Amino acid sequence: MALTASFEGIALQDLTQVRRIDPMLRQIVEAVSEGRVRAHLEALIRPRDPYAGYTSMEAAADFIAETLRRCSLHLVEERFRCEGRWYRNVIASQPGSCRDGQVLIVAHYDTVPNSPGADDNASGVAGLLEVAGVLARYRFKHDLVFIAFALEEYGNPGSLYYVERAKACDAAIRGVFDLEMIGYLGQTQAVPPGIQAPAVGDFIGVVGNRRSEELVSLFKETAAMVVPSLPVQALVVEGNGENLPLVRQSDHTPFWEAGYPAVMITDTAFLRNPHYHLPSDTLDTLNLPFLRQVTAATAASAALLAGFA
Ligand SMILES: [Zn+2]
Repeated sequence: MALTASFEGIALQDLTQVRRIDPMLRQIVEAVSEGRVRAHLEALIRPRDPYAGYTSMEAAADFIAETLRRCSLHLVEERFRCEGRWYRNVIASQPGSCRDGQVLIVAHYDTVPNSPGADDNASGVAGLLEVAGVLARYRFKHDLVFIAFALEEYGNPGSLYYVERAKACDAAIRGVFDLEMIGYLGQTQAVPPGIQAPAVGDFIGVVGNRRSEELVSLFKETAAMVVPSLPVQALVVEGNGENLPLVRQSDHTPFWEAGYPAVMITDTAFLRNPHYHLPSDTLDTLNLPFLRQVTAATAASAALLAGFA
């Protein structure tokens, strides 16, 4: 009992495994807190669209910026214009000791109109904020960059703008973890033709293209090591996923198009979640222990890719 009580949220079979891995990685996984993830979700969940939800979209950006600033990260707000209005990507970074490459953890914070966007994508942003808070306590060889993108739901001009500038200055990006809906478990799972996946929606998906194959493996193997009770389904698509457009529906796609390795980490969105883009995408539909496990796997994977200094 004492053991479970002191490691809130980690199943016992996970613990025995975690004890055999790198002590720093173990500390990171144990530090990921379901309580903080819930608090982030509560602050974020409400319509955050550029129309009637504009004020709460801006408030979400302020909350994200303030939370990242409190982690002692270097904060930049990247502003861009879209259809006559200004929007912002919130970017926080922690320099690595080598300064020769970046590891990105990204998630979009906007919603479609009339949806509070709990799974889409307060879940991804809450995961990002928790990874940032935990990893900021460590030093890494490579830079860590946390980005909350604006307007993913509107053709992702936020991530397009960021990637254009990264490409122009020849940024060395080692890998991108895009958290795109990571909080929903379902009894049923739709599976597109030609793809192998279980019929029960109890797994987290990690999707990459060929150039991102190593990143897909890193996430899958790290998750198996640090949260072995979390089922992971990996999918590697040809090209940039042109033959399966639904794997392109997030902020990782501009990175793919620019030739950077990037993975989308996802509960598979509308293939599983019946509340997708609806007013019913609310906090009470999410599974927080699952969201915590996905966040822990992401934190550990990003730590390994960034390399302990
Ligand atoms: Zn989304």
